[in-house]
Amino acid sequence: MARRKIVAGNWKMNMTPSQAVALCAELKDLVKSDSVDVVYCVPAIDIVPVVEAVKGTNVKVGAENMYFEEKGAYTGEISAAMLKDAGVEFVIIGHSERRDYFKEDDALLNKKVAKAFEAGLTPILCCGETLEQREMGVTMDWIRLQIKSDLAGITADQVKSMVIAYEPIWAIGTGKTATTEQAEEVCKGIRECIAEMYDAATADAVRIQYGGSVNAGNAAELFAQPDIDGGLVGGASLKADFGKIVNY
Ligand code: PEP
Repeated sequence: MARRKIVAGNWKMNMTPSQAVALCAELKDLVKSDSVDVVYCVPAIDIVPVVEAVKGTNVKVGAENMYFEEKGAYTGEISAAMLKDAGVEFVIIGHSERRDYFKEDDALLNKKVAKAFEAGLTPILCCGETLEQREMGVTMDWIRLQIKSDLAGITADQVKSMVIAYEPIWAIGTGKTATTEQAEEVCKGIRECIAEMYDAATADAVRIQYGGSVNAGNAAELFAQPDIDGGLVGGASLKADFGKIVNY
């Protein structure tokens, strides 16, 4: 089955609302594509203006995080229903920066994935190993553990519709991209893990991105791999280069 590529920008904690609107205008023509899904995952405060700014374009809007509770006394958090109502379609869950700096563990992330689906959002679930884990030779064991824990109780049909982003932590924001072989090997391993947990059809349908210092120069080779269905892009998503990545 031919999976449609998906290239998502992760803006992280960058862009004030007015800067966000200006960036949407700058990228508008550059990210046009009939063959690739394009998503901007933006800071919470930018969601409303960005949804407005990309109206009528091929760009879809994602959030960078959400909370799993329906509503109530969770000061500072944003619910899945709020994101959905604001026009968000995707939500990044379990980015390594949230796992590391904000101590989000797999039990919490599993609740977030379930809640995202319940609200009609598409999760972009991140996984990835540290440099130490890679050097110890436990990369795939670690990632399989993350995937199995984060997807506990999630149905095959839900998994078919979601996105998994393989992001080696040592490659995020460091300028060190995984080699094409390293990236493909792990993305293939994730697909095999999904086949074991569910079935071949689910593994065949789920879209798996590579993330970690993707740029205009390396996107084409990475995205040409059989198990890499696009990218999650940090730094390069904030510049005109993002258009080159989309149209790799
Ligand atoms: C990311 O934040 O998901 C990421 C991959 O960042 P960068 O592209 O800057 O490495």
